[in-house]
Amino acid sequence: MQEFAEPFRHGWRQTAQVREVLYDGQSAFQHVQVFDTVPFGRMLVLDDACQTSVRDEYIYHEMLTHVPMMAHPAPRRVLIIGGGDGGALRRVLEYPVDKATMVEIDGDVVDVSRKLLPEIAGSAFDDPRTELLIGDGVAYLRDTTEHFDVILVDSTDPVGPAVDLFGETFYQHARRALGDNGIIVTQSGSPLVMLEELQAAEALMRRVFPIVKTYTCSIPLYPGVLWSFTAASTRLDPTQVEPRNIAGRLLANGQPTGWYTPAIHAAAFALPNFLAAALETQASYDPSALPLPLY
Ligand code: SAM
Repeated sequence: MQEFAEPFRHGWRQTAQVREVLYDGQSAFQHVQVFDTVPFGRMLVLDDACQTSVRDEYIYHEMLTHVPMMAHPAPRRVLIIGGGDGGALRRVLEYPVDKATMVEIDGDVVDVSRKLLPEIAGSAFDDPRTELLIGDGVAYLRDTTEHFDVILVDSTDPVGPAVDLFGETFYQHARRALGDNGIIVTQSGSPLVMLEELQAAEALMRRVFPIVKTYTCSIPLYPGVLWSFTAASTRLDPTQVEPRNIAGRLLANGQPTGWYTPAIHAAAFALPNFLAAALETQASYDPSALPLPLY
């Protein structure tokens, strides 16, 4: 049986058995592949990096979306940058939002996801509240005069077109678009095999926002499984959300969740010592010590 393996990161990689290659093409931005795999079912891969799979997408998309959406008392206008598979968009639209704007640089990712991974987005792309723009999220946020309550950066890792989505200028534009009462969350990579990228993004967010909080969850699809998100805001503290408030809103919205719960929301911000120290001290780790950075 065929296999798909990501590239090694610090001598560590994971491999999936592949039943069938469903798509393999080169877009204007990246190599786009969809495999039907034994462990994860259908899986989207961009430039050899696993992005999402029909079997575990709910974990990433629930944790990327519900934490900031529940931290805001009544999010009405949401911006998603990246997210071409539509999984984050589907979760945002479970809330009584007025509008969800999604800026995805690569239209091929949307087209391929809608065709081969339809269950991830469900009907989100056809929702009248959805505004789908195919373009660079960096330029969009730089130029927009719109205000947003929540911004989700659901991007590839900080390489290629995504690099500037992790830059200080981008966060300054985000702070302008959010005002004092909004919150941004970015996927911030693996604390085990991408610790430097996480430290850099978090440090830059700290230069722009007074409140910056990293949280984690376990995503089987991603290298090392442990994954991070970093939230930033001026007034909203995502660690100070009443669990009963979350439970009530989940119930009111009729939101089924496979991973996210009020207790998970709180626990996700409890960081392992090595990670809390790495973010506190910004110590640079000897790359040969990664993964499992030595404390
Ligand atoms: N939602 C998936 C997950 O579970 O992690 C992965 C995210 S999604 C596939 C990542 C998207 O970010 C890709 O479709 C990529 O084209 C998009 N992207 C990268 N850089 C971008 C940019 N500067 N502006 C907008 N979209 C960008």
